[in-house]
Amino acid sequence: MSVKLSVVVPCYNEGAVIDRLVDELASVLERLDGDYEVLLVDDGSTDDTLDRMRHINATRPAFRYLVLSRNFGKEAAMLAGLSHVDADAVAIMDADLQHPPELLLPMVELLGAGYEQVVARRDRAGEAWPRRLASRAYYRMVNGLIDVRLQDGAGDFRVLSRSALRALLSIGEVNRYSKGLFAWIGFRTTYVDYRNAARAGGESKWGFRSLFNYGIDSVISFNSKPLRIAIHVGVLISMLAVVYGVWVGVDAIVNGNAVPGYVTLICAVVGLGGLQMIMLGVIGEYLGRIYTETKGRPHFFIRERSADLESR
Ligand code: UDP
Ligand code: MG
Repeated sequence: MSVKLSVVVPCYNEGAVIDRLVDELASVLERLDGDYEVLLVDDGSTDDTLDRMRHINATRPAFRYLVLSRNFGKEAAMLAGLSHVDADAVAIMDADLQHPPELLLPMVELLGAGYEQVVARRDRAGEAWPRRLASRAYYRMVNGLIDVRLQDGAGDFRVLSRSALRALLSIGEVNRYSKGLFAWIGFRTTYVDYRNAARAGGESKWGFRSLFNYGIDSVISFNSKPLRIAIHVGVLISMLAVVYGVWVGVDAIVNGNAVPGYVTLICAVVGLGGLQMIMLGVIGEYLGRIYTETKGRPHFFIRERSADLESR
C-alpha cells in the first residue's frame, strides 16, 4: 500500500546532524494528514551516519534507509531514493537542516491544490557578496545558454507529484544535472520562499572548484549552444584577420610602409592558440559525455537496505 508522502534525504557524512533532522522531520510529518515515510540514503559515508540510520530505523519504523556501495554523489543518491519511492508525492531535501522541515506542510498543501511540483526557493541572506555576485552572474549566463529557465535559489528542495516523479525517473541520462532536469520535465510548478540558513552541523561538500565544475555541467548538459558559440567566435576572429590583412596590404602599397613587427604576430598566435584550446575543451566535454552515456552504466549500486525496502 502506498503512503501519502515519501521524503528522500541524501546523506553523506551527516552523522553530526542526522539525529536532529530526524527529530524535526518526525515532529513535522506527524502533523500531516495521511501517513508518510522517510527514505534516508547513505551515499557511502565514512563517519557514523549508517550506524545512526540503523538505530533510527529500529526506533522509528517510518524512517527507512538505503546504503549505496560507495560515494556516488548527491545526484545519484537522490536518484536511488527516488527510484524506491511508492507514494502519492515525494519530497526531496538535504540532511543538514538548511531545508527547514516545517516548510513541507505548506508545500504538500499546495500539491493538494493541484500543483505537481512545489519548489522551495531560498533567499541569499547571510551570504558573502562575492558569492552573491557570482551566483547572479551564473544564473544570467546559464539562462541565456540553456533551453530551460532556472530560478535563483530554487534547488533540490521540492515536492513532486507521482506523475512528475515518473517523468523525472524516465530520464535515463547518466550525467544528471537535476536542477535542469526538474525544470525540463515541466508540470504545473509553484514556488514557496524561505530564508536561507547555515548548516546545522558537519560541513559542506562544495568548494569553489566543485561549484565551478557544476557550472560547466549545467551549461553543457542541456544543449550544444557552447559549440555554436565556438563557431561564432571563430568566424568573428577570421573576419578580423582578413580585415587586418587587407589593411596591412593596402598600407604597404599606398604608403609604402613595411609589414609591421612581430608583436602582432605573437599576440595573434598566442591568442588564437588559447582560443583553440578552449574550443577543443568544449568539444572534449561533449565527447566525454557521449562516452559516459554510451557506456550506460548504472547510476548507483545498493549495498544494504532496511528490511521494509527489500521488496521494492
Ligand atoms: N550529499 C550526498 N553526496 C555527496 C555530497 C552531498 O548525498 O557526495 C548530500 C549531503 O549529505 C546533503 C546534501 O547532499 O544532504 C547537500 O550537501 P551539502 O550540504 O554539502 O551542499 P550545500 O548545502 O553546501 O550546497
Ligand atoms: Mg547544505
